[in-house]
Amino acid sequence: MQTRFTEDQLANPLISEAEAILRKCVHCGFCTATCPTFVLTGDERDSPRGRIWMIRDMLEADDQPPSQEVGYHLDRCLTCLSCMTTCPSGVDYMHLVDLGRHHIEENGKRDLIDRGLRRLLGYLLPRANLFHKALILARLARPFAGLVSGRLRAMLELAPKSLSKLDPVGKVDAIYPAQDKKTYRVALMAGCAQRAIDPDINAATISLLTRLGVEVVVKEKAYCCGALSHHINDEAGAKDAMRASVAAWADELEGEGIDAVIVNTSGCGTTIKDYVNLLKDDAAYASKAKAISALAKDITEFLHDDQLCQPLADQNMIVTYHAACSLQHGQKVLDAPKALLTAAGFSVVTAKESHLCCGSAGIYNVLQPDLASDLQKRKVAHINATKGDVVVAGNLGCINQLADVDAPICHTIQLLDWAYGGTKPKQLDAR
Ligand code: SF4
Ligand code: SF4
Repeated sequence: MQTRFTEDQLANPLISEAEAILRKCVHCGFCTATCPTFVLTGDERDSPRGRIWMIRDMLEADDQPPSQEVGYHLDRCLTCLSCMTTCPSGVDYMHLVDLGRHHIEENGKRDLIDRGLRRLLGYLLPRANLFHKALILARLARPFAGLVSGRLRAMLELAPKSLSKLDPVGKVDAIYPAQDKKTYRVALMAGCAQRAIDPDINAATISLLTRLGVEVVVKEKAYCCGALSHHINDEAGAKDAMRASVAAWADELEGEGIDAVIVNTSGCGTTIKDYVNLLKDDAAYASKAKAISALAKDITEFLHDDQLCQPLADQNMIVTYHAACSLQHGQKVLDAPKALLTAAGFSVVTAKESHLCCGSAGIYNVLQPDLASDLQKRKVAHINATKGDVVVAGNLGCINQLADVDAPICHTIQLLDWAYGGTKPKQLDAR
């Protein structure tokens, strides 16, 4: 793509980074067909190519405030990164859209309600304890969701129908020793929103890892990866969380040592693997962030790469595997979850349009409830058509978004833990 930045503009590192990305785009439009928002609306401005074009125009005219139009269409982007999987030219849309959003945040205006809602969510979600309390209130208000509309309704409808106690994993520093001979030592990202919504995911992860000879370390200070704040452009909140996590894991790395940082929420995994870029200008944290990014692995990636799970007999159960965007597009972890499930004796199927987002995308389903709901309905119909006995995904956001599928739905690690001698996921008993 041709750009017309001035020398002065290119002296700004953010503009020069954007320019390098923009120049790779050849307008071929291959990405449009796999972009969920373009598939729904058919509007070029809701496509990756259109957004790239608008970001270029906005940055070239950086002496003027960003238009409402560009802000509107960038907000509607799910950051699902499906376009990056499709793009034959290797356009780094993930970092370009970050730069575009950063520019809008610095130079544009959001209406008061939008700003307030983003601040509220940015404060609540990374704080598991507080978020858990908010969910208790939201559950009480859930029956009245039909009386309100828009984002408030979306928030109430997303409150889980049943709520467990707050996950104790991550509350304090803890070491979960390997059973039998220790083969690996890993740090586990306990997570924030996930701890408030579903404690069974960390429990299953620790249960399986320790049975397989892996010692698991959890650090209280790694309270959130920063992804949710980053997605709503709360850069200060995001960087605080990132630095805290990097410092906690780097201490462990330099101390007793760790072989990996294990992540069981793929949205967090994409961000942690990108710490190397996100903290590259932070002199105190850059090299530690690089080391942590290199160690980050999705739980299925770790189990698969290190061949920790032995093949099991046929389980006589069809599993519909839902590939979270952050896992398939963000981290390019494609085969590991399916290979593990197959080795564990499950028959694995995938739904039509498995490359398209379910509409969860962090808190997109709250901020853009209409588009998210259309994507949700489409995804639920495709998953139901597979007639699986159980549906699994590697990201809590997707699991919540798809709660209304016909079959029970749980995290991939819960099914694997059960297959290898752990607790049966309660979702399977509930129906
Ligand atoms: S990240 Fe997803 S929604 Fe955004 S432009 Fe790319 S494909 Fe479309
Ligand atoms: S596929 Fe890649 S090169 Fe083609 S329009 Fe999309 S981003 Fe640009």
